[in-house]
Amino acid sequence: SKLRRLDQLLGSLGYGTRREAQGMVADGLVTVKGVVAERADVRVASEDVLVKGQPLEAAEGLLAILHKPLDFVCTRSDGEGATIYELLPAQWSDRKPAVTSVGRLDRDTSGLLLVTDRGDLVQRWTSPKSEVEKVYEVTVEKPLDASLVEVFASGTVMLRGEEKPCLPAQLELVDDLHARLTLMEGRYHQVRRMFASQGWKVTALHRSRFGEYSLEDVAVGEWRLLDVGAR
Ligand code: URA
Repeated sequence: SKLRRLDQLLGSLGYGTRREAQGMVADGLVTVKGVVAERADVRVASEDVLVKGQPLEAAEGLLAILHKPLDFVCTRSDGEGATIYELLPAQWSDRKPAVTSVGRLDRDTSGLLLVTDRGDLVQRWTSPKSEVEKVYEVTVEKPLDASLVEVFASGTVMLRGEEKPCLPAQLELVDDLHARLTLMEGRYHQVRRMFASQGWKVTALHRSRFGEYSLEDVAVGEWRLLDVGAR
């Protein structure tokens, strides 16, 4: 990777302020190519640096899956209760650029949320043109009707207060009260509003997939770093 000043590199990855990074160097906690760094202003490649013997965390960009629990919000402001950022390492909040979620899930929705410091990925994956598949496991309050499958696939579903119909969406009926909905867009409260438009109230909502990513074995409230690699 490209060369950067050691103190700036550590600062941008949330290891501390530049002054704190200088302190870590002075304390002999940082090595470059296996040699204890003498100065914090040397130019280094991130892959050559160890802090307390450990490689730098996600030095070339951070991408992680979070299994969002119910009752957490995706905003940074408290006031509204617990935020997803409380589930993530504090160091991630000190990174620059900031770590944010790729889109949002409602407080009442659980499931897969990507978090990243790559603004380009947020743009790419949340743009209305992106057509990333999002899969939702939906529970409703009264028995489903098979006619919903065609309605949702038709591209004619109108949401209250909006001008354009929803893109065709794929609905799979699982049983009377459960369905799986695949969306290519992500409007505000879209799943709940699509069902509401047809007279069904969603009582539980869980996102199981976002594009190529699924939760696999990430437990509720936990996160897993992904390889940001070629993205
Ligand atoms: N649709 C919703 O209604 N809520 C979400 O959190 C995501 C999609």
